[in-house]
Amino acid sequence: MKFPIVYAVKHKDMNIRMNSRSGGIFTALSDKILSENGVVYGCILNEDFEAVHVRAETAEERDKMRGSKYIQSSMGDTFHHVAEDLKNGRKVLFSGTSCQIAGLKAFLGKADTEQLLCVDIVCHGVPSTLVWKKYLAWQEQEHHGKIVSVDFRNKKDFGWAAHVETLTFKTEDGSEKKVNADIFKRIFLERNSMRPACYQCPYKDIMHPADITIADYWGIDNAVPDFNDDKGVSLVLLNHEKSIQIFEELKENLEYRNTRIEDSMQPALKQPFSRPASRQKFWNDFRTKPFSYIAKTYGTLSFTQKIKRKLKKYLKK
Ligand SMILES: Cc1cc2nc3c(=O)[nH]c(=O)nc-3n(C[C@H](O)[C@H](O)[C@H](O)COP(=O)(O)OP(=O)(O)OC[C@H]3O[C@@H](n4cnc5c(N)ncnc54)[C@H](O)[C@@H]3O)c2cc1C
Repeated sequence: MKFPIVYAVKHKDMNIRMNSRSGGIFTALSDKILSENGVVYGCILNEDFEAVHVRAETAEERDKMRGSKYIQSSMGDTFHHVAEDLKNGRKVLFSGTSCQIAGLKAFLGKADTEQLLCVDIVCHGVPSTLVWKKYLAWQEQEHHGKIVSVDFRNKKDFGWAAHVETLTFKTEDGSEKKVNADIFKRIFLERNSMRPACYQCPYKDIMHPADITIADYWGIDNAVPDFNDDKGVSLVLLNHEKSIQIFEELKENLEYRNTRIEDSMQPALKQPFSRPASRQKFWNDFRTKPFSYIAKTYGTLSFTQKIKRKLKKYLKK
């Protein structure tokens, strides 16, 4: 059998799909593990808006792991807890970036991992948490309020393909205010703020260290015309025999199509993203200038970029 086996997937439950980054495959997988008295590990955003990995035994705890947090997640002592859970005979689903999965496997060494299911996300790279924190502090200053919630990519209001961050503030008069922006998204995608290791990522490949790899199914319109409703489709790569049986058991909750890897390629499956020439300048500016300058210089489209973008859209029509 040739791996990976590739699927386009949408969870049948629209509520689950709308609360997930892509097609809701993570919820389908983790529901299965939880229903077998297993535990789930994944990334949540804590009360200080930092990404941290935590352990979940209930669907309520797991639900906080939904949604992409586009910053590096801290592992805390989760690897120790995974080892303990496995020793105690519990089923474990561990989700994270490919480097986090590789780290977990190295940590577990020769331990019995029969009950462990690893799920990695296809990853553009992770930006520095420091930049994220400065960004939030600047937004609070700009909007005279305290941030009470963050959606890194607001799918409900803007659709799956759009990339708009929504920040909710509690303002001085006690009212709530929502602000949509794309500043952090631009800083993220321009790659200046990415961790140095990401420029040499060894996992920008079709094969990954996890049993199952999940991603946004960019390219779905070529792979399966008419499957895309702009509410999210997951790309699912089954990397080992073990994952085939697990996927079979999920199928009743999913709409799915078997697809070809050739129709599913995206940059993050091909090679690491290069280190931008402007990286050194970005960090010099970040250390010495106010964040308003960073937002304007690195998080906003220039006049020429705006014109080029409009032209591209127009030519597409
Ligand atoms: C930093 C980052 C970069 C990404 N880059 C790409 C990309 O280049 N191409 C692409 O197709 N998709 C990318 N994604 C999105 C990823 O593919 C989706 O998380 C995946 O499609 C899951 O879809 P789902 O519908 O099952 O979502 P959900 O239920 O929303 O899945 C959430 C899953 O993401 C994990 N997660 C969330 N944030 C983090 C984090 N900071 N670190 C580690 N794990 C996290 C959770 O533990 C959980 O397993 C990226 C996500 C992140 C966090």
